[in-house]
Amino acid sequence: MIAGRANTIPEVRFNLKGKAAGQWRIIHGREQIRFNPLAFVLDWDAHFPATVAHEVAHSIVYRIHGPRGARPHGPEWQACMQAFGCKPRVTHNTPLPGRKMKTHEYICDCQRHSLSARRHYLIQRKHYRYQCRYCGTTLRPEASPG
Ligand SMILES: [Zn+2]
Ligand SMILES: [Zn+2]
Repeated sequence: MIAGRANTIPEVRFNLKGKAAGQWRIIHGREQIRFNPLAFVLDWDAHFPATVAHEVAHSIVYRIHGPRGARPHGPEWQACMQAFGCKPRVTHNTPLPGRKMKTHEYICDCQRHSLSARRHYLIQRKHYRYQCRYCGTTLRPEASPG
């Protein structure tokens, strides 16, 4: 075990969208495991415990071997999965819808508006202006957080 990592608990979130059922990642220097709730709703048996084990195995490999010590789904990860009694699968068969089209957030004086990439392009590059149907003010980009 690498000192300092042994006793930290990864942040666990249930807000993953898109085609992946689970995800393990380092964000702001901390481990985060995310799960796609829809995957578990559509096919519980396929994802519990396999998807949970899959992501936890990533965390264990990271803790033992460090950030560059092992390939993501290499022998170390596979051995972990075997120890959990799970098949070391990298893909799943649950039909999950892909990500929605990327939108850009704008605001007027009364609400938020999600604009398509095309409208965003026209505003930014072609100086188009769009007005809110309700309050009549021109849409402006939402201030990006942080
Ligand atoms: Zn993986
Ligand atoms: Zn408005």
